Amino acid sequence: MTGFCKKGYCFSGQGEIKFSEECGVFGGISYKYPVAPFIQQGLFMLQHRGQESAGICVGEKNPFIYKNKGLVMEVLSDRVVGKIRGRIGISHVRYSTQGGSDTTHAQPYVVTYLGEKVAVAHNGNVKAAVEMRKNLEKEGEVFITTADTEMILKKIIRELCKAPSKWTFEEVGQVLTENFTGGAWSILFLVPGKIFAFRDPMGYRPLSMCESKDGVFVSSEDTSFQMLENKSVYHIHPGEGVEISRDGFELKRFAAEMSSKKCVFEHIYFARPDSNVFGRNVYSSRVELGRKCALENPVNADIVIPVMDSGFAPALGFSQQSGIPLQMGLMRNRWVGRTFILPEQQMRSTGVRRKLTPIKEVLNDKRVVVIDDSIVRGTTSREIVRLLKESGAKEVHFRSASPKILNTCQWGVDIPTKKELIANKYEDICGIRDFIEADSLAYLSIEGLKEIFQDGWCYSCLLGDCENPENENSCKCSKLYESVC
Ligand code: AMP
Repeated sequence: MTGFCKKGYCFSGQGEIKFSEECGVFGGISYKYPVAPFIQQGLFMLQHRGQESAGICVGEKNPFIYKNKGLVMEVLSDRVVGKIRGRIGISHVRYSTQGGSDTTHAQPYVVTYLGEKVAVAHNGNVKAAVEMRKNLEKEGEVFITTADTEMILKKIIRELCKAPSKWTFEEVGQVLTENFTGGAWSILFLVPGKIFAFRDPMGYRPLSMCESKDGVFVSSEDTSFQMLENKSVYHIHPGEGVEISRDGFELKRFAAEMSSKKCVFEHIYFARPDSNVFGRNVYSSRVELGRKCALENPVNADIVIPVMDSGFAPALGFSQQSGIPLQMGLMRNRWVGRTFILPEQQMRSTGVRRKLTPIKEVLNDKRVVVIDDSIVRGTTSREIVRLLKESGAKEVHFRSASPKILNTCQWGVDIPTKKELIANKYEDICGIRDFIEADSLAYLSIEGLKEIFQDGWCYSCLLGDCENPENENSCKCSKLYESVC
């Protein structure tokens, strides 16, 4: 297959293949027992961050690595986990769209450096990855995967080789800062007897740690620590990391904190509602988003319907604010996988109907306001409006608890190409409303969102070209401020 890669996308004879990564990392050291069961449970709580593959690397001198395509409990089954000895380890769940989804891409990656094994698990994306990869290739580096993670690992090794020395937290932190600042990396390294965990200086992706009576653990989301008793949880700051060993742990600053760029989409869609991401609870954020939607774009309706799961909390907020009762008009089949990652548009539409089934008794003859966390391609929204109308809803008013998604994400959230985004396909909101066949449509405004989250967040997927100050005048962002159609 011939092809080339550009800005996180690879193109092949079979069309565009995207290698964006939405991932979760978990690792730690257990004081008394094998660490693998802790890792299995912790990683399981991050399943929503990646369903494509799972992997674990455990041990000090000659670590055991096991990874495969599939869900956490399929790959890291009790049978597998029961056989893994060792008290220290890291793990990873991965999600990408097509391509790059083979077992080779499953993390952690392990290499040997100066006779010692080093493993890495990473969530995020590197800035200028394509140029960096090309430069490394010119210097004779070879890559087995298309993932940024392998590049980070190889770049670090090259830099450390210049002054042959052992891996230390400080040295790795310095190479990361000098070469990868500006990109997104919540990243774990397993080196003999130690884990180094780093969160990039802009803090795009979350990372938390927990000390408990059983050990010290680090995770993309603090919901992973629910299983632990007598614990204290700490949210690692941008530019900060933690070194974990049998002797305990040490929090260390490896880079100055820059103006932070916490990903707002973690709160809108990605993270679990029971997690505290960047120091705030995700469920509460989503309820607030729904409240704000109701304030900005009220509607006369009989019932509020959530699009499960991430639409539930915003729908509750909308209902609380508007006084319109919340009803379960759409039932979610929890055994159906995510519709978003199905490759063909037709499959996506069918996927929505497999996932969501209407409860006619709730909907019949009702004016319905339906809330989802976001509208990306518009597939889900259109199918939902049709379903609700087929099921007897008299009117269907759609509200998105996030502003229009106008831009793809370079920092680790899987969002389609700009041209696939419904908000870019239509000049105004009325075009989108007609496409999704709703009686009215409104998005939360960007100002409304910023009132909730304020400064220090990355809004780039919602800002379109405004992100680039050169385009400020020609930018079509005025369309963001249309309220309702
Ligand atoms: P769409 O049908 O393309 O408009 O996608 C909207 C639906 O996808 C919503 O129900 C969201 O909850 C969900 N969604 C939003 N962002 C993502 C993402 N990055 N990955 C997977 N699903 C998403």
